[in-house]
Amino acid sequence: MYQCPTCGGGVRFDIASQKLRCDHCQNTYEPESFSTHGAAEEENEFSTTRFLCPQCGAEIIGDDNTAAAFCSFCGASTILESRISKEKRPDHIIPFKITKAQCTDLYTRMLHRSPFAPTALKDPKSIESFRGIYMPYWMYGFDYQGSFHASATKSSRQGNYDITRYYDLSGNMDASFDGILHDASTTFSDDISESVVPYEVNAMRDFHPAYLSGFYADTEDVNPNLYLNDAAELTQTYTSQAITGHPSFQGYHIDPGRKTAPDAVPRPAKYAMLPVWFMAYRKKDRVSYVTINGQTGKSAADSPIDPARYAIGSLLLAIPLFLLLNLLLSLSASVMLILSAIIAFITAIVAIVEHSHMQKKEHGDLDRGLRGYKARKPPVKKSHSALDAFSPTLSFASVAAAIAIVVIDPVSDYWFYAGSLFSIVASFLAFTRIIRNYNILATRKLPQFSRTGGDDRA
Ligand SMILES: [Zn+2]
Ligand SMILES: [Zn+2]
Repeated sequence: MYQCPTCGGGVRFDIASQKLRCDHCQNTYEPESFSTHGAAEEENEFSTTRFLCPQCGAEIIGDDNTAAAFCSFCGASTILESRISKEKRPDHIIPFKITKAQCTDLYTRMLHRSPFAPTALKDPKSIESFRGIYMPYWMYGFDYQGSFHASATKSSRQGNYDITRYYDLSGNMDASFDGILHDASTTFSDDISESVVPYEVNAMRDFHPAYLSGFYADTEDVNPNLYLNDAAELTQTYTSQAITGHPSFQGYHIDPGRKTAPDAVPRPAKYAMLPVWFMAYRKKDRVSYVTINGQTGKSAADSPIDPARYAIGSLLLAIPLFLLLNLLLSLSASVMLILSAIIAFITAIVAIVEHSHMQKKEHGDLDRGLRGYKARKPPVKKSHSALDAFSPTLSFASVAAAIAIVVIDPVSDYWFYAGSLFSIVASFLAFTRIIRNYNILATRKLPQFSRTGGDDRA
């Protein structure tokens, strides 16, 4: 922890003034005014404390001992183990701009929009557990220099003739790109890092460990080469658009197969720390995360549905449904059958799509860093109830039955009513399955990290 040059008290980064403020004498200092060149410090390392959660294995760094009280990733309130560590020094940092008060305010407003959210999410204790965490990112840059060539045509019509003229277009290109960001940590899954971007990269500063005082940070554990091709492709698309969109080339049809452009020359990937406010809410063996961009305030949350609140909501919804049912009963038997079969078909499709998405998420497929770099998570077979497995079959059987009844067109209306009832029951089962799976989708499995630790990665 840095000490106040005036009184020796502890200083921490103050978001409002964007400076380090002393807890005792309230003096403020530029972060850069603190020396980092202690005896053991090197240019590309800095000293801090690394905390390890004994339950899930998540690690977080910071100089504040309150970090030891609970884990931000699995929500466990056990004492975290701590040790002094040397960390790879990031190149850049975007300091926090959203204060904790602004963060909790944004969060409370977000909750107002989620009537079915569990009440525990509104608990001041949960809200208090928001932590300012710097997320590690790789930042890519590319240079394009040299000449490009393209074959192009221009067509026109004169009288009875179509005239096509052929051209060789060429020019010089001098383009550079910087600030293309990709999440550098497997602790934060890609859906979290993608939900809070973009950041305003021009607010980025050179890293100084003093910016971290009063905050926490996660550290990189993804090889920077993992996203290099993605980043290069993105800039190639931009340069290609810039060429074809250039005013001098208007009216030409450029043959996409016959085009050469200078190769992208990658700059060394830079290591950057970007701010998020982060909170974990745990219920039994599921956890949900709330993430707020610490610079722009863009918010994202896993929003589970509280079954009790949902039941009350459904009761209120049942009244218009009851009226609708009355309306349905006044319809002819065949129209009623067709309508209920359509509903059964739609709910079955929604349930199947949702279920496949859930399987992907549960298997960690949504984090490229995890898939591409470590591939250490074996696919877990999700156990689901017999009813769950049976539900789509039942829905499609009810649709098939409905089609058969319409085709055969029996004399007695009871066939139509029985078919409708079959479809309605199947829709109801599919619908309860949708809600249950939604809750699995809106929460996460308790994390299990097996990171190698800081010292041997430096
Ligand atoms: Zn002081
Ligand atoms: Zn944990």
